[in-house]
Amino acid sequence: MPTRSYYGDSYTWQFDATVVESSQDANAPSVVLDATYFYPTSGGQPHDTGTLGGANVTDVHVRESDGAVVHVLDAPIATGVVSAAIDGARRFDHMQQHTGQHILSQAFLRVANAATIGFHLGVDTISIDLDANALPEARILEAAELTNHVVSNDVEVRSWFPDAAELQALALRKMPDVDGPVRVVAIGDFDFSACGGTHVARAGEVGLLSVLRVERMKRGTRIEFLAGHRARADYARKHAIVRELSAALTCAPAEIVEAVGKLSSTLVESRRALATYRERDLDDEAARLRASATLVEGVNVVRRAFNGRPVDEIKGLALRLTTEPDVIALLGIAGQRTQLIFAKSENVTVDLKPWFDKALAALGGGKGGGGRILMGSAAQVDEAVLDSVISSSY
Ligand SMILES: [Zn+2]
Repeated sequence: MPTRSYYGDSYTWQFDATVVESSQDANAPSVVLDATYFYPTSGGQPHDTGTLGGANVTDVHVRESDGAVVHVLDAPIATGVVSAAIDGARRFDHMQQHTGQHILSQAFLRVANAATIGFHLGVDTISIDLDANALPEARILEAAELTNHVVSNDVEVRSWFPDAAELQALALRKMPDVDGPVRVVAIGDFDFSACGGTHVARAGEVGLLSVLRVERMKRGTRIEFLAGHRARADYARKHAIVRELSAALTCAPAEIVEAVGKLSSTLVESRRALATYRERDLDDEAARLRASATLVEGVNVVRRAFNGRPVDEIKGLALRLTTEPDVIALLGIAGQRTQLIFAKSENVTVDLKPWFDKALAALGGGKGGGGRILMGSAAQVDEAVLDSVISSSY
């Protein structure tokens, strides 16, 4: 495969090449070069981007029929010799993540006998899937530690096409899933894998590998991680968060967890206390309303229009008022929606429904119903309008 120059050199990001095939499809013009350093999407690693003959390279893929590397462009380009530039930051990021993945996969094999069955390199997340169901936290820490140890030792990363005899002798972690010549990527003598990806030349270039999250799946375990520049950026972000939390909680970083624990139990206690006081408050308010009732044919009628109060509170008042016998409560709330709550004691035989319907109609129509407590809502009206509707009900 002489046309895939990146196999032998991951660091050439600017080169000249000859266009040997050109498609002028108006939506997605594309070209094939005599030799290319552009990496096509494959083996879990995304394609490179960059420029080619002045056009932007939006996608690079392998054509199934003949294995040619197709460069999709945002504009047609002239044939002949063209200049190419690969987005080096994106490419180097992929090299760091991919080499980090090889080391981490070997580390999991060594510390937990867990084989990698999937690899995903995305813009936001990078993960491997392991064929192990129960991975203790200690094993995960151990695998990350071993990975960073290999990174620190800065062993050489090599890639080559061994002949059949040499291939036979290599203990490959990942068997090739392609026919034909097999490319092997070796991380010192720590890991040997069949892989077509682009890798850093020395393990030290991975810089740092950090495991972020462990997710149990139906089959196996997903390990989310970051390597290289992404891991350092993540460290900086998290350090900033810790600094802010430490300042907000006025404690040392090591005391944040304890401080948040205390804060959350204080909050639970406060909420409980607040609920008790609120109940007591509503009891008092219900008693005051009861005292303001007018007697109509032996029934104590409480009328009151509120403004902008929660429905639950006013429903709570209606319930309190009508727990005692001989009470009718005609309550309403003016606000973004007008709420109407008409309730009566068990022993009151009067049918409030016609009054309720009439009041809702007077408020411009609305929906509502219920049994002993009738509840409904209508469009927004003035508090004075609601007050007069309630006053003329029953
Ligand atoms: Zn690989």
